[in-house]
Amino acid sequence: MALKAMLFDMDGTLTRPRLDFAAIKREIGIPTTSFILEVMETMTPTERERAMAIVERHEQEAAERSELNDGVVPLLAELGRRGILTGIITRNSRRSCETVMTRHELAFSVLVCRECARAKPSPDGILLALQRLRIDAASAVYVGDHLIDLQAGHAAGARTILVTNGHDKGFHVEADFVVAGPGEIVGLLDTLQGTAR
Ligand SMILES: [Mg+2]
Repeated sequence: MALKAMLFDMDGTLTRPRLDFAAIKREIGIPTTSFILEVMETMTPTERERAMAIVERHEQEAAERSELNDGVVPLLAELGRRGILTGIITRNSRRSCETVMTRHELAFSVLVCRECARAKPSPDGILLALQRLRIDAASAVYVGDHLIDLQAGHAAGARTILVTNGHDKGFHVEADFVVAGPGEIVGLLDTLQGTAR
């Protein structure tokens, strides 16, 4: 099977986990077990505006202090050497995504933020990225650290890689491949490209 594109989640995958979702939810005043963007859809316009301002403040602070996850730079370099395209699909805003890209001097072939497509676990963002890259889902892999990343990747028809960051995720059986950090993905590339012996 060919590998033409590797698409990534941002928080906790390309960058070290930093967004404190529990703190954001407490500040908004919603249950810590809920999904922020989904709950916001049920709010009045005034409530939603207030909640979005809280989310964006936390996101921007996290982006400005973000650190790259282990092995991201060598992985991206190796993908470049092999001619494999790269992309980001994130529930973050475009602004915080661009802050992270600029801070770490990263470049990706395509960037899909929450302004561009329905949020994961919907596959829409991944499908939009693949459409822009003109690549079939079967030739793509999606890398993320959350169950919704695996769900979105599979729903799009792509293979998936779970980044555990050393934690027992409980849902690792949902992933096609499991790594502790992005650096380990370099060792999977021959297999993903179908050239492993
Ligand atoms: Mg994530």
